[in-house]
Amino acid sequence: MLHANKYDVLSETISEAKKEKINIVWFKRDLRLQDHLPLKNAEESNLRYLCIYIIDPVIMKHPDNSLRHQRFIYHSILDMNKKLDKYDKEVLIFQKETHTVFNYLSKKFSINTIFSYQESGTKLSWDIDKKVTKYCKAKDVNWIQYQRDGIIRGIRNRENWDKNWYINMSEPIIKNTFIKHKKLNFKNPFAIENSLLIDLASYPKDFQPAGEDYANKYLNSFTESRGKNYSKFISKPMESRKSCGRISVYLAWGNISIKQAYQHIKNHSNYAQHKRSFNGILIRLKWHCHFIQKFEVECEYEYRCVNAGYEEVKYTDNSQYIEDWKKGNTGLPLVDASMRCLKQTGWLNFRMRAMLVSVLCHHFDSNWKHGANHLANLFLDYEPGIHYTQFQMQAGTTGINTVRIYNPVKQSKNHDPDGIFIRKWIPELLEVPNNFIHEPWKMTAIDMTILNLELDYVKPKIDIIEAAKAARIKAWGHRKDSIVKREKKRIVKLHTRNNLAKRN
Ligand SMILES: Cc1cc2nc3c(=O)[nH]c(=O)nc-3n(C[C@H](O)[C@H](O)[C@H](O)COP(=O)(O)OP(=O)(O)OC[C@H]3O[C@@H](n4cnc5c(N)ncnc54)[C@H](O)[C@@H]3O)c2cc1C
Repeated sequence: MLHANKYDVLSETISEAKKEKINIVWFKRDLRLQDHLPLKNAEESNLRYLCIYIIDPVIMKHPDNSLRHQRFIYHSILDMNKKLDKYDKEVLIFQKETHTVFNYLSKKFSINTIFSYQESGTKLSWDIDKKVTKYCKAKDVNWIQYQRDGIIRGIRNRENWDKNWYINMSEPIIKNTFIKHKKLNFKNPFAIENSLLIDLASYPKDFQPAGEDYANKYLNSFTESRGKNYSKFISKPMESRKSCGRISVYLAWGNISIKQAYQHIKNHSNYAQHKRSFNGILIRLKWHCHFIQKFEVECEYEYRCVNAGYEEVKYTDNSQYIEDWKKGNTGLPLVDASMRCLKQTGWLNFRMRAMLVSVLCHHFDSNWKHGANHLANLFLDYEPGIHYTQFQMQAGTTGINTVRIYNPVKQSKNHDPDGIFIRKWIPELLEVPNNFIHEPWKMTAIDMTILNLELDYVKPKIDIIEAAKAARIKAWGHRKDSIVKREKKRIVKLHTRNNLAKRN
């Protein structure tokens, strides 16, 4: 019955003369109602407009995608719709292939302009955009894509990039309004299917809540109090959960713009008092865009090594090690605690993310391609432009950065000395005393008898010192490869100001 109704709606085409001329605001990774240029320009036009978000099944099936991302998106839109309801407006969600949605909308309306932000996404998102461009040409629709967060389309080098970024950050914040136009009455034949809706409706309590209000709450609590310890605790797996900005998820899905975050922190009355910490987070906002800019220019990094010379490298790729890593069952307490924590909460600090990659790619000698999508799925703040480039930096396949091999025991002793984070996420180790918490495999049978302990936790399958030694030789050795050297020159020219290479 449901299908028959849908078919009726789809087949009903309005004659050209009767179609209302409208605009469309197409939301992508910009799920907010303020500081939103496409919305502003749609509102200022004399035509009424539809606000749309498309859950494209092709994107849903892509291996980087996970339900937790969709949940965050859905709840961000619910939050937008709660606010828009006051103005009798809403963001319509379509669950259908993007080109089908636009073709259908063209049957109902005469579309004048689609307003959206540029998306610096995966190859798949580019392919979808290309189809929309074709559709726009065929239907004589104007598609205006605005620059997002200072990321520039079509550049060949980084000349003036930093300067332009700062100019972009100092632009006034857009104050969007929604009073000019009346709602368009439209029945959505591609509304979210019930089975997905049920999944999306529930939202795990351990995930950061979605929406503009929460984004601002996190930002405010950072500048008001949490941020004073930003630099001190940035690498601590436990303390950083409070002292870090925790705005990545809001930036990744666009609940706030980079400019809003930048100006809020820079202009805050506590800036002078906590200059070191606040400057620390401000520079990272630029890194955020710097990495996405790389991906904007070369989105192939999702599939291939940043430095093509590393495609030749052979790895052991032990499937059991990779499985253990994914499950948080390696026997290395800080590694397992990090993976389990990430699974439950969707967030980890930078150092723990880097350590996870380091263990997979260096100690376990695995190709980065076996782990990148696993973490992409788990990060609630998954942003392809940062993710694949950062993942590869830690995996040592860029050829331009220092190869960092994080010793997971040393990290544990330095950053979780009392094992608080470890015990929170590995209940098997709850009773293990501090002197063994970082290396429980060192406990002898006598130790366990004395401590009255029965340990139900795996032993690591590798010797971390030997594995790191071998990895170091391998990683640095390959730097001498002629393709790696040639690629290095190309990458530095394309993606860095010459002195930027060392820092990033
Ligand atoms: C393997 C790996 C994968 C990563 N994947 C992602 C990802 O998918 N999405 C994502 O937002 N970050 C990613 N990061 C970067 C970083 O770990 C997170 O941005 C940070 O932990 C988010 O927490 P926060 O908002 O509290 O950051 P803060 O330290 O408070 O920083 C503020 C903002 O600056 C940006 N930022 C911070 N550190 C970096 C960095 N090293 N590189 C680029 N931007 C940065 C983020 O937008 C962040 O929200 C990844 C890092 C690694 C090592």
